[in-house]
Amino acid sequence: MLLDVRDLRVEFRTRDGVAHAVNGVSYAVDAGETLAVLGESGSGKSVTAQAVMGILDTPPGRITGGQVLFQGRDLLTLKEEERRKVRGAGLAMIFQDALSALNPVLPVGDQLGEMFTVHRGMSKKEARVRAVELMDRVRIPAAAQRVRDYPHQFSGGMRQRIMIAMALALEPALIIADEPTTALDVTVQAQVMDLLAELRREYRMGLILITHDLGVVADVADRIAVMYAGRIVESAPVHDIYKAPAHPYTRGLLDSIPRLDHKGRELYAIKGLPPDLAAVPPGCAFHPRCPMARDVCRTDVPPLHAVADGRGSACHFWRECLRGDER
Ligand code: SF4
Ligand code: MG
Repeated sequence: MLLDVRDLRVEFRTRDGVAHAVNGVSYAVDAGETLAVLGESGSGKSVTAQAVMGILDTPPGRITGGQVLFQGRDLLTLKEEERRKVRGAGLAMIFQDALSALNPVLPVGDQLGEMFTVHRGMSKKEARVRAVELMDRVRIPAAAQRVRDYPHQFSGGMRQRIMIAMALALEPALIIADEPTTALDVTVQAQVMDLLAELRREYRMGLILITHDLGVVADVADRIAVMYAGRIVESAPVHDIYKAPAHPYTRGLLDSIPRLDHKGRELYAIKGLPPDLAAVPPGCAFHPRCPMARDVCRTDVPPLHAVADGRGSACHFWRECLRGDER
């Protein structure tokens, strides 16, 4: 297993108390596999990734438990120096907002080049050649001319391609992409997502795709982990989830995707809002919003039930959900 996150816990101290932003999350990604981590904002999906990458702002965030096994070694117990080395060579991250992730006063070619001069000890000239190659690889037109341009001179889609190029530069084993296309318009989103999927295949990398949009993951992901209020509530191969969700929250997300074959039908929206992580409802955190909730849901936290091989649901009534009762 390339990345194996086990029972990860992250707390934040807030004015309202302790927020359990990540509350016992486990997921795994194999080489060449794409895992989509899905959930509304505030579900803990980004914080989980930041804990894996070691970029969690501390304080107020604090990892309080669990393991992050990357290529068999627990990143959380390695010495800082060693940890940085392992992460630097093996892991890369793509953020939603390329404009703030890139240095505004440095030409993009120099930023790409630095990956090679700093980490690979190349000369500036060699690094420039590699930078142009990479810009070409992510299909930036006229890369050789544009290598001297600054981030603000590129469109949002092109900047996101530059972020992808930066992530690819050191040929990591795993890329974590946090809402990589959310800031882009729909056509550009699809192009950037296709490019990412294509490069993942070509480089045989693992990919964790964090998104709030179930619509973008169908074609790229192998597995989906759905997060709610700091926990994974459903985890399954992508096709199983689309066929029949085993958790009412996943079902709600699926029913709120616009579909061509459902034209004219009113789009479903999950009622209410995700909870404040410092005041998560007792029992199943989803119960105030769940159309299937019963008394037991208000008192007992549902464990992650094994629904099938490689498939889990944290719902007391996953069988009913799977059958589509009360739909
Ligand atoms: Fe809904 Fe109860 Fe299942 Fe939670 S445990 S998702 S409230 S049915
Ligand atoms: Mg986020």
